[in-house]
Amino acid sequence: MSKFKINSEHKNARTATLILNGKKINTPFFMPVATKGSVKMLSHEELKELGTQCLISNAFVLSLKPGTEIIAKHGGLHGFMNWQGGIFTDSGGFQVLSDTFCRKLTEEGVLFRNPYTGVDSMFTPEESTRIQNLLGSDVAMVLDDVPKAGAIKQRVSQAMERTTSWAQRSKDAHKNKKQLQFAIVQGGVHKPLRKKSALALTEMNFDGYAIGGLAIGEPLSKMKETIEYTIPFLPKEKPVYLMGVGSVKELVESVEMGVDCFDSAFPTRTARHGKAFVGAGHINIDAAIYRDDTKPLDEKCACMVCRNYSRAYLHHLFSTKEENAQKWLSYHNLFFVQQIMKKMREEINSGNFSSSAFLKKLSAGKI
Ligand SMILES: [Zn+2]
Repeated sequence: MSKFKINSEHKNARTATLILNGKKINTPFFMPVATKGSVKMLSHEELKELGTQCLISNAFVLSLKPGTEIIAKHGGLHGFMNWQGGIFTDSGGFQVLSDTFCRKLTEEGVLFRNPYTGVDSMFTPEESTRIQNLLGSDVAMVLDDVPKAGAIKQRVSQAMERTTSWAQRSKDAHKNKKQLQFAIVQGGVHKPLRKKSALALTEMNFDGYAIGGLAIGEPLSKMKETIEYTIPFLPKEKPVYLMGVGSVKELVESVEMGVDCFDSAFPTRTARHGKAFVGAGHINIDAAIYRDDTKPLDEKCACMVCRNYSRAYLHHLFSTKEENAQKWLSYHNLFFVQQIMKKMREEINSGNFSSSAFLKKLSAGKI
């Protein structure tokens, strides 16, 4: 039975229902990042209240602490976290390859040093899949080889080829029948590499396809061009997930290109730095002009923070380093993103969605 049912299409944008172990996720949707099993500053109750359907955690990070077996013993990630919504787990390719962990990258996998024990171990596609099977997330991601920002084409090509062979190994190792498994298209901003990656992974018949290796510092125009180029090589009847994108303009433009699923720490990370999403842009609550501003963060926003607190109050809390300022800005930013996703779903369903018109309405305070 298909786990992804397309409801409505408008040009390349679409709405669908993604069924994750009985949970119906309305797409396009956005996932807050809970790397270690918690979204920074927010409780699960608050996440539910602001319309979160799914979270994404990190398999590699969780396997180091508290350890895969502890989580498996407590009913998997859903039980351990007591989160009944959807859960994706990222494989940990990006993290294990960072300078913090990586000792050596080979065809077999990544030799990494565990910072808690000082012991070196291999992290392979099979191990990442085994961990995710035990964590019991609804969607597991394959282990990918993620080239660093600004890597030369030869390295990007090697990483793409390796991601393809690791995807097959991840698929062969996948034993949890209740868990979907998504592949990750690599290839940087090089079109022939993206095409080759997308076609090879499509052959392997995964449950969904992610576009990885973007939003790492390349120009936004290049990112957009790469997404637009890659999507037509992916099967239309499967979900498309753009990894690491969470700024308003890029979310809206990517939905128009046919992306169904997003994750990013951007809304909460920027909130902790004092940036609140307003209209199609943001304000810095730290700025002196808000010292005496009685308006809410965003006059169109119906979130708990905008209904109750003024910019002046939030400015005061932020400038005196009261933690509630970071918490409430995180709440507002995530609510704001969830509202945008909802509005886009409504517009696609009514057959009247274009990113430029949508962004114009957002800027004018008409959404
Ligand atoms: Zn708000």
